[in-house]
Amino acid sequence: MRIAVLSDIHANLAALEAVRAELADVDETWVLGDIVGYGPEPNEVITALQEMGARSVLGNHDGAAIGGVDPSYFNPDARAAIEWTASAIDDNARSYLATLPEVRRDGDLTAVHGSPRDPIWEYVTSRGIAAANLEHFETRLCLFGHTHLPTVYRVAEGDVEQHLGLPGATVTLTGERAMLNPGSVGQPRDGLPDAAYAVLEWGGETAGSGAMTFHRVRYDIDRTQRLMRERGLPARLVERLRYGR
Ligand code: ZN
Repeated sequence: MRIAVLSDIHANLAALEAVRAELADVDETWVLGDIVGYGPEPNEVITALQEMGARSVLGNHDGAAIGGVDPSYFNPDARAAIEWTASAIDDNARSYLATLPEVRRDGDLTAVHGSPRDPIWEYVTSRGIAAANLEHFETRLCLFGHTHLPTVYRVAEGDVEQHLGLPGATVTLTGERAMLNPGSVGQPRDGLPDAAYAVLEWGGETAGSGAMTFHRVRYDIDRTQRLMRERGLPARLVERLRYGR
């Protein structure tokens, strides 16, 4: 089975469409939250995800956009973007976000935005944090986002090792448990501006093992930046798309 793993799309339709164009042969698409916030096209992104049959979870920006998560934890730019998003989303987008679970589980997969221990807010940014989270989910694999940094934390001989999700890298998953982050579609922060996503090969003839491959795809950053300016979104959020920071 081929599973597309997308996270942190952040209302960047141009980035999502560039990724979507490469996903003709996947069996499922999982989306790890922060569908909206920062970017200029929240309604269009949600319509695209509905067409794709995406299995999504709730992120902190998604919750804040519909009033379910306290935006006082956001920095001023993020809060300004959420206030715009809250005013811009239509009924379809609002009800889509309102029905998203914080944790989604199916077969060998658990999906969250932040971490299994704290699905909305925790950043898994170290082997130690990953190790502490292993006891908070029961499946073989956990898909997570929130940091916007592509990576794999994999259990090996009782320890947790980290593999960076460099473009084109494939991390094999054989037997041991792992936590997997595909990076961000709509606002990469690893210094590369191209949209990030991953494809997980899992199950089928090789039950209990597989591999995660990290991909980058160029998209029309100018278009997204122009729309953000038109909507009065904060300049710093517009600029960072160019640098992937
Ligand atoms: Zn995010």
